[in-house]
Amino acid sequence: MEKLEELSAFLESRRNIVITTHQKPDGDAMGSSLALYNYLIGLNQNVIVISPTEYPAYFSYLPGCDQVINHLEKPELSKAAIASAELIFCLDFNDLSRIEPLDQLISNNTAAKIALVDHHMHPKDFAYWVLHDTKSSSTCELIYRLLGLLDSEYIPTKEVAECIYTGILTDTASFSNGATSKAALLITARLLDCGLNIISVQEQLNQNGREEKLRFIGNALSRNMIIREDIGVGIIVIDRKDAYRYNLQTGDTEGLVNYPLSIQNVKVAILLKQEAKMIKLSFRSKGEFSVERICRENFEGGGHRNASGGRSLLTVEQTIDKIISIFEQEKLV
Ligand code: 5GP
Ligand code: MN
Repeated sequence: MEKLEELSAFLESRRNIVITTHQKPDGDAMGSSLALYNYLIGLNQNVIVISPTEYPAYFSYLPGCDQVINHLEKPELSKAAIASAELIFCLDFNDLSRIEPLDQLISNNTAAKIALVDHHMHPKDFAYWVLHDTKSSSTCELIYRLLGLLDSEYIPTKEVAECIYTGILTDTASFSNGATSKAALLITARLLDCGLNIISVQEQLNQNGREEKLRFIGNALSRNMIIREDIGVGIIVIDRKDAYRYNLQTGDTEGLVNYPLSIQNVKVAILLKQEAKMIKLSFRSKGEFSVERICRENFEGGGHRNASGGRSLLTVEQTIDKIISIFEQEKLV
């Protein structure tokens, strides 16, 4: 990170600090925000974590989660915190549009310095301090690196360790996808010496769910999945009726997009989720094929080579047609 000494010096005084992350935060977004939060609280900083939207209830085990402000629930609180912030950490996103409507509030506070810590491709240039590495498994890995840069003798507390591990675990799909780096494994091994309990995180994340969620997944796979092995694509559709019928909660669709990839000839899996004003898209790919390019060029999105997202303002049927015609051209098979 350039100007690291300046950041260290800045943190020598007690500062008003805001940490924010992308809409509908995932394990890496929540884990990195709360790892940094716990570290800064330990330095006696005045820190507030703001999520632009709601976040999954199953992250409540993360230390400090109960302190996270959901902007949609408490806009006045988050507005005041952003207006008085001296330093704003932007974690796990590459473009301020990913934090709408907080982007406007941040732009209004011209006095605050912005620090970006992220691993997505093609970051926009909006931060004063930048720690960015697309080779990093997760933003949590980068937070671990940042804490070591700020204090070479730093040893994570159990709380920080649990948060960092959560982001590494979720962004590597439990150490199985291409993001699974040597650094991710080494850091995890070191976190075990800091009091990390892998079993307890596993219980909280994967063995703590609701029956409705499992039945929803079964229904989605048996009724709402389109498999087109001829063009190498599998699509799962979640419409609002299903969301209502199964009482879908934030985070319940996490991981669902990966299922079609278990089929040999499916190279790209796509999840279409009908939301109030748009269709949210999730893409996953096998091997070298970049869904980041597909999302950037066609769906106002981006992310990583093998895991990206975007949006569509078309109907569900039109969006499916658009996806199919894109992949008829791509000739994956
Ligand atoms: P997911 O499919 O899990 O929502 O997202 C996959 C990856 O793409 C994540 O790293 C996420 O941050 C990123 N991503 C998801 N949606 C968008 C989007 O609309 N724009 C950009 N730039 N990145 C996105
Ligand atoms: Mn991430």
